[in-house]
Amino acid sequence: MAVPKKKKSRSKRDSRRANHDRLTLRSLVKCSRCGAVRLPHRACRECGFYRDRIVVATEPTGA
Ligand SMILES: [Zn+2]
Repeated sequence: MAVPKKKKSRSKRDSRRANHDRLTLRSLVKCSRCGAVRLPHRACRECGFYRDRIVVATEPTGA
């Protein structure tokens, strides 16, 4: 198996590890019904709305 010839520098090592946290989902879209921010291709967490219909029954919060 191939083995790295040289030890990676601290900055190379640290920047590689720092990339880990950046690989989280960053894209968000607004719900077309209630305007809440939601993940793309997911039903809205606030109103359970997805593609012109309610797909998830949401319980009223706080009531
Ligand atoms: Zn919504």
